Amino acid sequence: MSDYDVIIVGTGAGGGTLARHLAPSGKRILLLERGDWLPREPQNWSTADVFIDNRYISADTWYDDKGKAFQPQVHYFVGGATKLYGAALYRLRREDFGELKHHDGLSPAWPIGYDDMEPYYTKAEQLYQVHGARGEDPTEPPASAPYPFPALSHEPRIQQLSDDLAAAGRHPFHAPCGVMLDEANPPFSRCIRCATCDGFPCLVHAKSDAEVLGVRPALEHPNVTLVTGAQAVKLATNDAGTTVTGIDVDHDGTREVFTADLYVVSCGAANSAKLLLASASDAHPNGLANSSDQVGRNYMFHNSQAVLALSKEPNPTAFQKTLGVNDFYFGGPDFEFPMGNIQMIGKSQAEMFKGEKPLETKLAPGFALRDVATHAVDFWLSTEDLPVPENRVTLERDGNIKLSYSARNATAASRLYHQLKSMLGHLGMHPDHLIPRHAYLKTDIPIAGVAHQAGTCRFGTDPATSVLNTDCRTHELDNLYVVDTSCFPSISAVNPALTAMANALRVGDHLLERLGA
Ligand SMILES: Cc1cc2nc3c(=O)[nH]c(=O)nc-3n(C[C@H](O)[C@H](O)[C@H](O)COP(=O)(O)OP(=O)(O)OC[C@H]3O[C@@H](n4cnc5c(N)ncnc54)[C@H](O)[C@@H]3O)c2cc1C
Ligand code: SF4
Repeated sequence: MSDYDVIIVGTGAGGGTLARHLAPSGKRILLLERGDWLPREPQNWSTADVFIDNRYISADTWYDDKGKAFQPQVHYFVGGATKLYGAALYRLRREDFGELKHHDGLSPAWPIGYDDMEPYYTKAEQLYQVHGARGEDPTEPPASAPYPFPALSHEPRIQQLSDDLAAAGRHPFHAPCGVMLDEANPPFSRCIRCATCDGFPCLVHAKSDAEVLGVRPALEHPNVTLVTGAQAVKLATNDAGTTVTGIDVDHDGTREVFTADLYVVSCGAANSAKLLLASASDAHPNGLANSSDQVGRNYMFHNSQAVLALSKEPNPTAFQKTLGVNDFYFGGPDFEFPMGNIQMIGKSQAEMFKGEKPLETKLAPGFALRDVATHAVDFWLSTEDLPVPENRVTLERDGNIKLSYSARNATAASRLYHQLKSMLGHLGMHPDHLIPRHAYLKTDIPIAGVAHQAGTCRFGTDPATSVLNTDCRTHELDNLYVVDTSCFPSISAVNPALTAMANALRVGDHLLERLGA
């Protein structure tokens, strides 16, 4: 008999959400997490520790396509990348589930439609306590329920920005946010609306992350076990290669084997591909579930730009991430292809600019860095990346990840940037000044910014072109599932976490049925 009914590897948006969904079934569930609990300490909210010293970036070595080593911006903790995320919890647009023509090529259709996912988006919004307002964003897909919590109010400078955008004929909306803020009852609000949220862990556990709202509630059930410091290194199969029979784990330096009836890999897109590729055997010489040679391919992340504009008036906003604009999502007046989403990022703070001298001298003459931070209004522009087979994860000789990647849709990204730039004069900002926010991307090596990674084990109906079927089960192994952003056939131009969570709930329903629970 197996040790467990289900083993879930990884506790982020995919794995943590799935664990919570399966927990009440009473089935024996093991969660394996390579990281530890993220420590609760004053440094959680220290800009210098988090943004300059990279305190919560995990030590890992990956390689680029030339074989050059780099440190990826990954976070190996209970809760995965959601511990540091900005908690902007968007649904994909209905059109994102279909085929979309972009400047640089096609964004392929998903094997399921928006209507299949809609009930799970609604459940995920409830589980992750999302605040928002329906009906403001013209690209918003239909929803079967209101947001469970009211939209976060804009602080005055962002309200002004919203008013100015509306006056210019745009459709700013209240962005969907996963923070536990109760504006009607501040003394009892868990969230204190601070300036250290996006990119920081939440010291008071008021961010809707996969540790707080996935793993912790799951562990309240006695049938759920979590092992931290447990890195899955290989999945073993029966001789025919049709069933996983066990998982080899490096548990704080000691090899251990765990067995289950069902195995779910939720390590994040790059690491899920790595685990399958590292599990090659006689029955699966190219890596597990990889007869199609699709495992690791079609790696995507957003074509993102973090920029700041200089407001004529100071911008004293603490929590800035309350506004979004999707007017250019599907194109614009002089560009017929999708450009993407504009949203806010966490407010610039002077400490973040340490070492960024060119910003002061070249782009903002007369502005000291402190003044730049005081006047900054910070935007995050996301253009859809497109899946191409050459953008892929393989294994380097030492077993670490090799990431071969070149960006797509640069023209659309540039159009979006210029669209925003052209509006600044109407938005109370210094015209023609959009300054790159390297501090947020935290790296000069673009591929190291893997926050929005997706697409290495895409799901589909054809085993020749996909790794997973529509239940996110591998086409080739009956008891192996992949439930994280790996399954995305396309990444859209909105943030991926809510879709990973909703999909985990969808696959969870399938697993509960399969387990007879
Ligand atoms: C700074 C930052 C800001 C972001 N902001 C947003 C945002 O505002 N909105 C949004 O939607 N998304 C945001 N994201 C992205 C979002 O966090 C990810 O899309 C999401 O967490 C992906 O979920 P996942 O389950 O695929 O992977 P993850 O959440 O990364 O989880 C993977 C887990 O697997 C573990 N793991 C990896 N390998 C192994 C192994 N071999 N054995 C055991 N465990 C393993 C990892 O430690 C991790 O816990 C942000 C990310 C970052 C880093
Ligand atoms: S804004 Fe709220 S959720 Fe975010 S870090 Fe601060 S207290 Fe936590």
